[in-house]
Amino acid sequence: MRCDLLHPADQILLMMDRIYGYGMTTTSGGNLSILDEQNQIWITPAGVDKGALTRSDIVCVKPDGTVVGHHRPSSEFPFHRLIYDARPDLRAVVHAHPPALVSFSIVRRIPDTRLLPNERQICGEIGMAEYALPGSRELGENIAAVFKRGIDSVMLENHGVVVGGTDLFQAFQRFETLDFCARLEINARRIGAPALLSDEQFRAIEGGDEPELGEFVPESYGTEELAIRRDMCTLIKRSYDQRLFTSTQGTFSHRLADGSFVITPYGADRKYLEPEDLVRVEGGAAEAGKTPSRSVHLHRRIYELHPHIDSVIIAHPPNVMAFAVTDRTLDSRTIPESYILMRQTPKLPFDAVYRDTEGTAARFTKDTPIAIVENNCVIVTGQNLLNAFDRLEVAEYSAKAILSAGCLGDIAHIGPEQIRDLEIAFKL
Ligand SMILES: [Zn+2]
Repeated sequence: MRCDLLHPADQILLMMDRIYGYGMTTTSGGNLSILDEQNQIWITPAGVDKGALTRSDIVCVKPDGTVVGHHRPSSEFPFHRLIYDARPDLRAVVHAHPPALVSFSIVRRIPDTRLLPNERQICGEIGMAEYALPGSRELGENIAAVFKRGIDSVMLENHGVVVGGTDLFQAFQRFETLDFCARLEINARRIGAPALLSDEQFRAIEGGDEPELGEFVPESYGTEELAIRRDMCTLIKRSYDQRLFTSTQGTFSHRLADGSFVITPYGADRKYLEPEDLVRVEGGAAEAGKTPSRSVHLHRRIYELHPHIDSVIIAHPPNVMAFAVTDRTLDSRTIPESYILMRQTPKLPFDAVYRDTEGTAARFTKDTPIAIVENNCVIVTGQNLLNAFDRLEVAEYSAKAILSAGCLGDIAHIGPEQIRDLEIAFKL
């Protein structure tokens, strides 16, 4: 989807819908703006239900201050204006009060973006702006002063967050990623002290010494592949909606009968993926003109080594990841469903996805369908798309239940005898 070809009012509607729909703002809180080519600022209106905005509700403020539209601009317009004045490279601003970021805002702390590999690069350095009255010029100056230092993501004391971008989609991704970091850190701190990635580990990822893939032009697309592409898109969107994926992260693949496989592209927004965006990988080559997800070699080796696996997902949902960034293990002996789908759930070292592809791929035997990678991700395998998706969802829900149980009492695990009964009854 070419988001840059959408009118500013439509971009704002699309993103507001997304932010409100995923519980990242309330009806009255939060505002978005875009600075267009004529230096006009398009912004959400004051006092209109964020859950029911229409295109004609979006307000346009001309460079001379004239307001065009049916409403007043957001009461926070002053800080949007001052951010654009301070940073000519920014063309979009997202402001909201999502609960997890408000938790950090009211204890005046900044969420850590060093728990997983990509968050620091997406959000950049995070700043904190001093409290001032909402809508005041003083608040605008406090925020703009932090942006002026080249920072794109700014926490507001006792208020929320403001994020800028070169377009609204970049600003949204930064906002969503920072909110994800906040949710992850809150989850992790409920069970331990989260470990941060070291500079050396960050450098190791940047190295990117994966072998390059060749290219090929598919001669045709069979009905098997077309059905897989369609069903993958449905489940990728569902993964996003269930917050198992974020907009740019979450890898899904499925094997085709001839041994080739179809995989998500690198970087594209998971919310809007279409069948044509997915990438076929055959032998050592990818469909011409497309870039597959970076873990493509691991997917390939898993399929080569394990005929019983036809689908692989790599994701980093915020409850399972609490176990990836702390020293706690995710013990699936909680309820029968969890044990049946997850089994042992071992933890692999941080670089398992990048370095030892061979050793990592070999781990996914029938009694190890899922593994957590320290400070990185969870790798889920399945006999088909739905089985892999179900397993990921069960893992995330199980992790969530364990995190919540912490304040209720000690967890009573299912005993060895009952586990044996489960293994016999469900032919595990
Ligand atoms: Zn606000």
